[in-house]
Amino acid sequence: MADCIFCMIAKGEIPSTTVYEDETFKAVFDISPANKGHLLILPKAHAANVCELPEEMAAKVLPLAAKLGEALKKALGAEGFNLVVNTGEAAGQTVMHFHMHVIPRYKGDSPMVTWKPGAYEDGEAAKVAEKIVEALRA
Ligand code: AMP
Ligand code: ZN
Repeated sequence: MADCIFCMIAKGEIPSTTVYEDETFKAVFDISPANKGHLLILPKAHAANVCELPEEMAAKVLPLAAKLGEALKKALGAEGFNLVVNTGEAAGQTVMHFHMHVIPRYKGDSPMVTWKPGAYEDGEAAKVAEKIVEALRA
């Protein structure tokens, strides 16, 4: 993808603060970090989102994220970390090249990955679940 900014970063055509690189991935600083050390895992090959990521690459993302999260704890004293994959514009994805955020977290820091807890009406959960089960079967 010639005009994809994360392809350019992953290939080193645009400079970035890089903390990890192998043949498949690069992990770089997010330019507007939620907390200092906020990382983005970028596959070197373009995939628009998690649904388009080849399975063999997808299988490597979570172990890498865990390794990077542990490094954030060790290096920065983070007490935890969030792994975030926004998928689609409605979900907040702004760069259409798959990336996983690895965000170092500290007790009492600003809420970052949060939602207002909702509720189901009587019988609604079963109906919603049935639709999802049908979609999985199709
Ligand atoms: P998302 O909203 O999940 O698509 O996240 C895109 C992320 O990419 C945001 O957190 C941006 O701050 C970050 N970002 C955008 N451009 C760059 C860039 N050139 N270098 C590093 N991070 C970037
Ligand atoms: Zn790309």
